Amino acid sequence: MRLQKYMAHSGAASRRKSELLIEQGRVRINDTVITDMGVDVDPDKDRVYLDGKRLKLIKKHSYYLLNKPMGVVSTVSDEKKRPTVVDLIDTEDRIYPVGRLDIDTTGLILLTDDGAFTNKVTHPSNTIVKTYIATVEGTPNKVELDMLRKGIRVGQVKFAPAKVKILKRFEADSIIEVNVVEGKNHEVKIMFEKIGHPVKKLKRIAIGNIQLGDLGIGNYRALTDDEVKELM
Ligand code: URA
Repeated sequence: MRLQKYMAHSGAASRRKSELLIEQGRVRINDTVITDMGVDVDPDKDRVYLDGKRLKLIKKHSYYLLNKPMGVVSTVSDEKKRPTVVDLIDTEDRIYPVGRLDIDTTGLILLTDDGAFTNKVTHPSNTIVKTYIATVEGTPNKVELDMLRKGIRVGQVKFAPAKVKILKRFEADSIIEVNVVEGKNHEVKIMFEKIGHPVKKLKRIAIGNIQLGDLGIGNYRALTDDEVKELM
């Protein structure tokens, strides 16, 4: 990492200002005063000083969005040795999934090492909309869809009202866009099972305004700062 980048990431000064500080002979790597630009720092081995005071990198949290494939579990490790969402991300950071998708559900899952972010996104009081595309058996009629729109009760569990819209009808099944706010385990499958149209395939395509977009299956990307702020 370039010295001026290291300085900026330690909060000492902007990159431009750091270059000036280097030119002025105020910066040292280990025992050597540096006045040239273009010198690299190894953050794991080198010590950087400004006016004799040690500069340390400010650790930023990591936030990823993964397009989860089928057959991958939403945990950090799995006792049955199945692949996990964490295995798919190339990082040294101690990330874990924010909430869960079932093993046979595909699509958008977030991973982070930021506990405050996880609490915010998964807290029951949170009303971030999660959008799913469900392929269900048959085609639900209006009465059945209205049961989900009102909020359906299944045993002891009352589900919050869901938004549901039929996107396509086929002979044997139909494709439905579902918006839910709760995040209860297996919620989409349980709701459609209850109205007699079991889910055959499920994919999450959005959490709030964060979209899966055209990210390939098994691929991931970092969230932008704006996306993180929007969910916090
Ligand atoms: N609802 C489900 O039934 N399964 C999921 O994986 C997510 C939401």
